[in-house]
Amino acid sequence: MRLYSLTAAAKINLYLEIVGHRADGYHELVMVMQSVSLADLITVRSLSTPEIRLRCDHPQVPKDQSNLAYRAASLLASQFPDVMAHHGGVEITIEKKIPVGAGLAGGSNNAAAVLVGLDMLWQLGLTQTELQDLGAQLGSDVPFCITGGTAIATGRGEQLDPLYGLDTLYAVLGKYASLAVSTPWAYRAYRDAFIATYPDLAIARPARREAVQSGPMVSAIAHGDGPQIGRCLHNDLEKVVLPAHPQVAALKEIMAACGGLGTLMSGSGPTVFTLAESRAEAEQICQQVRDRLPDPDLGLWVTQFVPTGVQLVS
Ligand code: ATP
Repeated sequence: MRLYSLTAAAKINLYLEIVGHRADGYHELVMVMQSVSLADLITVRSLSTPEIRLRCDHPQVPKDQSNLAYRAASLLASQFPDVMAHHGGVEITIEKKIPVGAGLAGGSNNAAAVLVGLDMLWQLGLTQTELQDLGAQLGSDVPFCITGGTAIATGRGEQLDPLYGLDTLYAVLGKYASLAVSTPWAYRAYRDAFIATYPDLAIARPARREAVQSGPMVSAIAHGDGPQIGRCLHNDLEKVVLPAHPQVAALKEIMAACGGLGTLMSGSGPTVFTLAESRAEAEQICQQVRDRLPDPDLGLWVTQFVPTGVQLVS
């Protein structure tokens, strides 16, 4: 029996700008993504029978073929039709630590870990670029989740420019367990509210990419300037998610009042994070938020920036 265990890191968005609407139905984005130390554990184990099995005991995670981890295995099996005959099938076990529907790319990173794990289990010898091209077929965040660290993501989020990483910063994450936000809903709501302001993409796309690449957030990251990173935090999706979910808006306000470098909603939410320069400061912020919001439904995590997305454990 052969088996690989991998950790798959959550991501937060330090910057998310919606540039406009693309002909393929997606939004054109300019984002700065960051991996953090909150991670799921994914195990891929070879089976003697040519099948894909999935195990996960989290009630909100689908166990069927709609699971992104299952879809990743299915995609590789279809791309390499003889692989199961040679190596057998696979049992995928997901130990969920990342909250579901949280704006932390929990499903995308499970798919990324399965692509990396099966590349080893099935001895496919794929390059990182090949894995990322396959990942882009599963979801826009999957290519980033494979490499992780710090990166500018453009296009629909799948085109990556890695940045020199910042593993000295911390992020306190806050999410209400009973609240999930659908990513497609958030983008639809944004389009409905702002479509009249969308620019001509042919002109705006290169200009916005260039503006962010040479702008203050990327410069702050290059200089390791935590306070400036905190000042540059931005997420366009807050404009639709916060008004629709006053509980998230209130959480953001309280977290911001508890100190740190800056506070933002991640992705389509509802996770909110505050940046801190040390673990001690992050733990202090976490405790203050807990004291002000003693709601058992509110999950809080102290995480550190990490330079990798998927990592082999054993
Ligand atoms: P993103 O930030 O990439 O938009 P998210 O963090 O907001 O994603 P996920 O945790 O990926 O959200 O879950 C979104 C939906 O995807 C869930 O409602 C769930 O039904 C489905 N899903 C499919 N596969 C998985 C998986 N492996 N883990 C978690 N959710 C999954």
